[in-house]
Amino acid sequence: MINRRQWLCGMGIMASAAAQPGSAFAASKTETQKTASHSLSLAEFSPKSMLQVPETHVARAKFPVIDFHTHITRSAKSTRGVSLASDRVYLGTPQELLAVMDSKNVRAMVNLTGGYDKGLGDVISKYDHAFQDRFYAFTEPCYERFLETGYPQLQAEAIERAHRQGARGLKILKTLGLYLRENITSGKLVKIDDPRFDPMWDACGQLNMPVAIHVSDPVAFFTPTDGFNERYEELTNHPDWSFYGGDLPSNAELLEARNRVFARHPKTQFVVLHVGNFAENLANVAENLDRFPNMSVDIAARIGELGRQPRTARKFLEKYQDRIVFGTDATPHGDEYPQQVFNDKLYEIYYRFLETDDEYFDYAPAEVPPQGRWRIYGVNLPETILRKVYFENAARQLRVAI
Ligand SMILES: [Zn+2]
Repeated sequence: MINRRQWLCGMGIMASAAAQPGSAFAASKTETQKTASHSLSLAEFSPKSMLQVPETHVARAKFPVIDFHTHITRSAKSTRGVSLASDRVYLGTPQELLAVMDSKNVRAMVNLTGGYDKGLGDVISKYDHAFQDRFYAFTEPCYERFLETGYPQLQAEAIERAHRQGARGLKILKTLGLYLRENITSGKLVKIDDPRFDPMWDACGQLNMPVAIHVSDPVAFFTPTDGFNERYEELTNHPDWSFYGGDLPSNAELLEARNRVFARHPKTQFVVLHVGNFAENLANVAENLDRFPNMSVDIAARIGELGRQPRTARKFLEKYQDRIVFGTDATPHGDEYPQQVFNDKLYEIYYRFLETDDEYFDYAPAEVPPQGRWRIYGVNLPETILRKVYFENAARQLRVAI
């Protein structure tokens, strides 16, 4: 320990040494100043962690997996965030998907964006029927008919038709609440709890079709894209993901409207994607799970959130172990979203997070963490909970045996 006097004395020596050009000290001081005055842009900053801790490579899940949240197909036409075609774009062939699934112990993939009518029928025959028990398609609302008279009933009938075709559930993208407007792509935003969708929610309940519902987004997307935003780089890369300003509702308003739907349709099962769309606030998600027995959640594209709060996440996963399903949001060839591109690495990271107590590792296979500059910690779940999260809870929702 040095006392204040010695410290001041040291400072004096430093000052005089720095004042003498040519001394070794003066040279190193100049060097330091040079480095400090050159400020890096964020894009240039890609620090390599010097931490040395054990790394576990989990090549296969300990138990068979149902990936409850994937996108193998999508609508061929979308205007201002609203899907407007039954026709599908195919993002991956069954063969290429099965190769990864077999090596990673993924028994089945749920393709949430299966569409409706002919597009849905094609998807089901090419995937679900051609490869039994490996693919399950969900249907989606037919927003292109939103302005037709009798739409509420017509949409409920579309659910029945999709069920007969073989759809296992209904998927709601962020369309409700954030994109669909009174004139489909213009006018006032349509709220999630708009009564015109009540017959649709009821039809799902009657047919035992779970509703995979996505409302809202990371809460940082609802704040300005500035130097205080923890997802600044992500929003800069995808400016259209910002929901700040304009006539857009707040995150809280979206969740409240969603909750009113849960309350109004107690016989319908809702799987709220992305950890109940509020992974930054697990206390809030827990409160809603306690309030609504018809609510479950998936973990897709949110291990970055769960893994930065591993102790809270572990308690959450333990407490709600019967109501959490495994999902990744995997999209074949979706290279611009490293946290959800369908490949071996993606699954290995999820397994590492769930099965190990590894520390401080990347939540996505990317040079810079794509959803915020932090790393994650594993939650090391026991086998009984792993079984539930990997496949038992999803099998119950889908009404399939595994
Ligand atoms: Zn998704």
